[in-house]
Order: sequence, then structure tokens, then C-alpha cells
Amino acid sequence: MTATPPLGDAVGAADRLAAAVTAGIDAALDAAPAPPGDVDVGWVAALDATACPARFRGQGETGWGFPGWTPATAAGAVARSALDHHLHGPDPDCPPAPLEAVRDWMRTATSIGARGVAGWVAELRADGDGPALAATAAGAARWIAGFVRTLGWPLPERLALLNVARDDAPVARWSPRRGAPVRVRSGADARIGRIVGAGGHRLVVHRPVAGDDGQLRRRAAFEAAAGALVHRVAAAEVVVTTGDTGERVRVPVDEALLAAGGEMVVEVVRQRVRAVERGHDPADARPSPACRWCEVADGCGPGRDWLARAGRWRGGLPVLAPG
Ligand code: SF4
Repeated sequence: MTATPPLGDAVGAADRLAAAVTAGIDAALDAAPAPPGDVDVGWVAALDATACPARFRGQGETGWGFPGWTPATAAGAVARSALDHHLHGPDPDCPPAPLEAVRDWMRTATSIGARGVAGWVAELRADGDGPALAATAAGAARWIAGFVRTLGWPLPERLALLNVARDDAPVARWSPRRGAPVRVRSGADARIGRIVGAGGHRLVVHRPVAGDDGQLRRRAAFEAAAGALVHRVAAAEVVVTTGDTGERVRVPVDEALLAAGGEMVVEVVRQRVRAVERGHDPADARPSPACRWCEVADGCGPGRDWLARAGRWRGGLPVLAPG
């Protein structure tokens, strides 16, 4: 990714990105031997398809779709909603006690058919599933503690939580055109600053625990592009925070970052189109530490070779070189 000057025209940059992504998606769909069905492009799919196309295609419908709510997948969504609830409550200037804030919000989740994670929490409450509620609350409280730790209290001015389970919260999605089978979802956790034509706002992505730097950069690229598509204005930067280390990494948004994120979006569509004819195919397998928990590793020569090298770990144990 070559360095380019910062954006001077945030609306124009978003328009150019939308045109390039639309052209890429149209080209991929035009080449499809059969319609790939609905393609929902979120950050998990974008990172998966970029990391190893062979594995992404091999996952099939069950792997491409949302895996469903569990205490692990719900922690961030519950945390954002709980913190949002606190910030709209009677005492928003008081720092939140993370577990209390989560419990307060969970008490409001009483409608089983409610949107998003609120409906799932309401189901747990109706079922009296205390262990699942406790596990979810613990993960969400940890998320809030890390978020506040890295961004500081009071939170930055004009910070708004995104992707929250509130009835009047906007849905952050973009499609190339009405009725298109492709939808891109922004997964940013928060926005700092209002969205205006001049740009200047920042998007925040919070990770409870640290990950590798390459993935951080790719996630920032995807969120920069998804945010520009959804809001029609490019952000000035993506801020990636990490709860356990307290890190706060600022990734400036430029044309190169937007182009990289747009390419990740198009790559998901390309791989879904290819998956109509071929699923896992080791020809474009990209071995990496992800091979350790890959579900198709047993049938993947490049992945097996990578894992068999001395010093690799699998299943909690080092894999020794044969002979
Ligand atoms: S084993 Fe590794 S290289 Fe092979 S498909 Fe899985 S992630 Fe890709």
C-alpha cells in the first residue's frame, strides 16, 4: 500500500470509491456462471476472503452467514448498547461501572422480537438462562472497561456509539443499487465528530484483546471503505483501540486505504461467485497461523505442509518436523 496524500475531498473520495466498488461488483456478478445468492459483506467475511480465499470458499453457506448470538459474539453488541444506554440515561457524565451498566441495559431487553442482540438477550431472560446471561455480561463489561480505558473519561466530544440495539438507530448498510444482491455493512463501534461534507470525523474500532498488526491494518482499511460507502463521506482516520494493552492506533484515511478496503469488498463477491463452481481449492490457499484452526486443513496440502514445519503449534501442542 503506497503512501498517498490525506484526503482533500471527503465526499468526492467516497463517490469515487462507490463507483469503483460498484464496477468491481458488477464485473464479478457478470462473470458468474450462476447467481451466488445474497452476499452480505461485513468485516469478518472481508478479512476471511483476503486471508485465504480457498478457506473462505470452502466454508460454504454455514460459514458465510452470521453464526448466531453466543456470549462471545454478543459481547461487543451488548457492550455498545449498554454504554449507549448509559450515555442517554439520567447521569451521562458519571463514568459507567461496566458490569452495572450492562445489567441496567439487560433489564430493558424484554421484547423477544426486538431488533438485534436485544431480542436474543430477552430470550435468555425469558428462558431464565442465568449462565449465558452472566457470561455475556462479563464479556460486555470487559469490552466497556477497555473502551473507556483507551479513549479516556469523559469520552471524546461528539462521540456516538454505532451498531447499537436502539429502535431509532440508523442501519449502517450500503448496496450498489436498489435490489442488488450485495450489501456492505459497516462494523465500526463508534464515530467521533458529526458527518459533514467537509469530512473530518473519525471511526473507532475497539478490540478487547490485541491481534496482529496486519489484521489491524486490514480491518482499518475495510472500515474506512465501508464507512465511506455507508455515510457517503470518507472519514479522516480510523482509530483502533485495544482494551487489554491500552493501545490506540490512528490510521489516516487516504485514497490508498480506501482503495484497499474497496478491493476487500469486491474480493468477497468474487470469491462467492467462484464458490458456485468450486469450494476449497488449494491452488490459491494462503497458509498462515490461521491454518491451526482451519476446518479444511486436513484436505489442504499447502496448509498441512505449513503446519508440519518444525515449531508450528496445533491443538495446543507443537508440531514436530517428521523424521
Ligand atoms: S489450511 Fe491454511 S492454507 Fe489451507 S485452506 Fe485452511 S487456512 Fe487456507
